[in-house]
Amino acid sequence: MTDTETVPSPGAADASPQRPDVPEIESRMIKRSVTEDHVCVLTFDRPDSPANIFDKATLAELNEHLDFIASNPQFKGLVVTSAKKSIFIAGADLHSLSTATEQGLREIIELGQVTFNRIADMQIPTVAAIHGAAVGGGYEICLACDYRIASSDKSTKIGLPETQLGILPAWGGATRLPRLIGLPKALDVILAGKTVAARLALKLGMVDEVVPKEYVLTEALKRVGRGRALKKRGTTTAVRLANSGLAATLIRKRIGPAVQKKTRGNYPAIPKALEVATEGIRTNVMESMLLERAAILELTKTETAKNLIRVFFLQERAKKCRYAPSEKSRSVKKVAVIGAGVMGAGIAQWSAARDVQVILRDIGVEPLAKGMAAITKLFDDGARRHVFTKVEARAGIDRVFPSAVDVQLKNTEIVIEAAVEKMDLKKKVFQRIAELAGPRTILATNTSALSISELAASTPNPERVVGIHFFNPVHRMQLVEVIVGRQTSPEVVQRSVEFVQQLGKLPVVVKDSPGFLVNRILMPYLIEAGHLFENGARTEDIDETMLEFGMPMGPLRLTDEVGVDVGNHVGETIAKSFSPRLTNPAVLEKMMKAGLLGKKSGRGFYVYSGKKGERVNADTEKLRAGASAVGLARKELQTRMVLLMINEAARCLEEKLVAEAADVDFGMIMGTGFAPFTGGPLRFTDHVGIQKITQDMAELAGRAGERFAPCALLADMAKQNRSFY
Ligand code: NAD
Repeated sequence: MTDTETVPSPGAADASPQRPDVPEIESRMIKRSVTEDHVCVLTFDRPDSPANIFDKATLAELNEHLDFIASNPQFKGLVVTSAKKSIFIAGADLHSLSTATEQGLREIIELGQVTFNRIADMQIPTVAAIHGAAVGGGYEICLACDYRIASSDKSTKIGLPETQLGILPAWGGATRLPRLIGLPKALDVILAGKTVAARLALKLGMVDEVVPKEYVLTEALKRVGRGRALKKRGTTTAVRLANSGLAATLIRKRIGPAVQKKTRGNYPAIPKALEVATEGIRTNVMESMLLERAAILELTKTETAKNLIRVFFLQERAKKCRYAPSEKSRSVKKVAVIGAGVMGAGIAQWSAARDVQVILRDIGVEPLAKGMAAITKLFDDGARRHVFTKVEARAGIDRVFPSAVDVQLKNTEIVIEAAVEKMDLKKKVFQRIAELAGPRTILATNTSALSISELAASTPNPERVVGIHFFNPVHRMQLVEVIVGRQTSPEVVQRSVEFVQQLGKLPVVVKDSPGFLVNRILMPYLIEAGHLFENGARTEDIDETMLEFGMPMGPLRLTDEVGVDVGNHVGETIAKSFSPRLTNPAVLEKMMKAGLLGKKSGRGFYVYSGKKGERVNADTEKLRAGASAVGLARKELQTRMVLLMINEAARCLEEKLVAEAADVDFGMIMGTGFAPFTGGPLRFTDHVGIQKITQDMAELAGRAGERFAPCALLADMAKQNRSFY
């Protein structure tokens, strides 16, 4: 079999017919072709996979191609591209990275560096023709090229997400990106593990040109045809100044403390990447790469990297998961969203942005206008961040049809109800939509905590009723719970899962039970925070200790964000369902009466005063009722709140609300930001040890209340010394 074919060069009718001698090599991951202009095109196309990745075999094969190019001085240039629909190269093979021995890891890191350095050192011009995701190693190979052309397609995403996986770009990324765009901008990308749309990448200088996807290869061939001019592109003065030794010192001094404060020692990759990039810029490329190498070897060993890589795999699993066998999936074209409030508008915008037609129904013109304004703002923000062009944003807005009266829903595949959280009202809405909908229309609710089965029972076709629970804000939160009612048919669940996947969100399938999975575990924690506050613990201590633990926001601050009234309502539903174990703290009701509704009213546990930020609200502190938590150490506060989450998480598994421990951990990390570096509450339990966790629970149950007593599953596991994983 030959993998070397001739392709005509654009506008190269008079190209020399003589091609270099091209020996046959077995085509595996990379196809090689040669233009009549003697440009070598390497097209990554991993067989039987929608994605290209770099593993040892692919790097070895790339080296063979580079050997071949090196042995043929007739070549005038190299273009690197991909044959995949939406992925250029998705980066290193994380499976082999996470399971390699130290020696194996060292070898693959060295191999990647050496291979990409060969490209960087080539005498002929090299161009990356990027369509689809070029992330991690996939972007590092582009950085080694002289020039980068990206497609303007939505699927094209460019960046270095390694620090989000607890590692750092070590195939030259932490070395070459600062040299290309300057240290400050590079650090912005590397430390946040950012992946950006093509147009933003162009603005940042991460790529040199953006063209429609149809022209990427042609443009690349044209560019490479310009020859040595590409090789001579020097560094701009701005980049040179930004990368001076003095600038690097100042940047590190300025950013270092902020990074430390933000990561609280929980994400070692971020300070390490800062160190490598700022030290690396003072030296040459080779030395800088040695720093990258040493750093990644150190980071890969950490528990944090292991957990973060696991979370990545869980995300990948959710993208592909199936609930029931189904016919070849048809993508959903039309949905209706009932209620144009915070959630309805968010769901409508997200769906419309993914080419779905949306009917947006509310009871009056006013809420609809508010909803449409929110949708327009989200599209405008997206256009500002280069996620869409202005034309795409306009088309997205046009896909939403607001309506203040009933419309036929016969051809609507899914109706998502997001009206107010009242069972009676939802039942009425469902009876009406059941009349308007077609025989296959899925009737979904976005309820936070009401029973899907009870709601379904009020409709003629309960098997078509399902929960599709998005989180707030819809455009940021990737998790969606798909809730299976007692009578929901497996086909409806499967189609709902596929719809969530079509929207680019991550589904987790949960059995119908109060609070489902995420709110079920989150609420005991928020409730406990309320009790601790009510009994005299300081607001700052409660929130700060949970930030220390690794939560993205303290529980009281989160209650303010959600709304004290909403928190109270969900809290009551959950507490009623699990009484007497849980009781909703009375302070929330008192706050509601006093108009302290949280951030939306400007006052809650904190006072929100514009530019001054927020401060603890002394008025709320006056609403305290007891003193049993006065003076409790932060560590004790943390232990109480974390153990309650663990206990509830274990109960969810015990009650088989989800299929396995990984679903619980995944749901909590994606739905609440539960300290991702710990791997989730159950993984954390394994890490601390079942004996220690259950002993602490038993001890707390003795002095602080029965709610801390380990649930049956944890107690059993302790007896048998078992772990979740
Ligand atoms: P919201 O109060 O912002 O919006 C509700 C909208 O529903 C309003 O515009 C209202 O006019 C409209 N509405 C009321 N009755 C209606 C009817 N009969 N027909 C059509 N529209 C009607 O509420 P929200 O925060 O968007 O919450 C909506 C649902 O989503 C609730 O069930 C809630 O529990 C759930 N939810 C909320 C959040 C959150 O954080 N806000 C998160 C997840 C789920």
